[in-house]
Amino acid sequence: MEPIYFKPAFSHKPWGGSALREVWGYDEAGDDIGECWAVSAYKGMEASVDGGEFDSLTLKELWETKKELFNYQEGEAFPLLVKIINAEDDLSIQVHPDDDYAKEHEGVPFGKTECWYILDCEGEGSIIAGHHAKSRDEMRQMIESGDFKSFISEIRVHPGDFIMIEPGTLHAIKGGITLLEIQQSCDLTYRIYDYDRLCNGKKRELHLEKGMDVMNVPDDNLMSTIKHDRNLETELLLADNKYFKVKRICVKGELYLQAEGDYTIVSVIEGSGTLSGHPIKKGDNLILPYGFGSFELKGACKVILTSN
Ligand code: ZN
Repeated sequence: MEPIYFKPAFSHKPWGGSALREVWGYDEAGDDIGECWAVSAYKGMEASVDGGEFDSLTLKELWETKKELFNYQEGEAFPLLVKIINAEDDLSIQVHPDDDYAKEHEGVPFGKTECWYILDCEGEGSIIAGHHAKSRDEMRQMIESGDFKSFISEIRVHPGDFIMIEPGTLHAIKGGITLLEIQQSCDLTYRIYDYDRLCNGKKRELHLEKGMDVMNVPDDNLMSTIKHDRNLETELLLADNKYFKVKRICVKGELYLQAEGDYTIVSVIEGSGTLSGHPIKKGDNLILPYGFGSFELKGACKVILTSN
């Protein structure tokens, strides 16, 4: 059985930059590259297979026609999405709905639980996660009066920090951060604040009512939930919930592992080596299909394994 390599889709953003090409080696032009959709079956932003038996098929087509690769997992759409995000400038402050809200109010199959592994910070990195309002009334009053300075909770982060962003958590990536995002395959974002920026002469749309509807209150203690990866362990469990299990693996020399779940996504975030003889390098994202079994990692690299 062969690992399946992917060619990503890219999204250009007003807050993007050139690091995804210059630091990560992706073949994408422009100085406003914000997001690499590395493993994606999302409509219009599908990653496609790069080489091998299934060359050029999109992940959506694989999911729909080669169900054995995913252990015949049920569901109309591939449920996960892995991105690398490079923010030169601050992203808008936003919140996502959960599955129930997404189905009921938006007619889409998934809400958005996401998590971030910080890859790089230019200078002092920070994110926004949570807020200081103590009640829904106070949340509304702070948002409507534009008092975002006292409302939002800004948290310092460093490379190797990992945080879960649950549905309903107010959040934003700040400029200077590159991170790996693992999320449910959903693109529903309720924008709460965009720093009053103009984009092509206009402010981007806000979604205050829906955003306030889904926001967790209170939600003031996210700093304590951050895991700090000091690269001390060969294998570190980062998340294990009903949507995904995420581990960080450090390879120095050789290591034997077992593919888990219905399939395993391998995201190489540092260095290079081989996976059971197949070359892997920083920026590569591949899927080990169901039944891949045990595999060998060799070289000097760091990978994130996501299984479902
Ligand atoms: Zn988000």
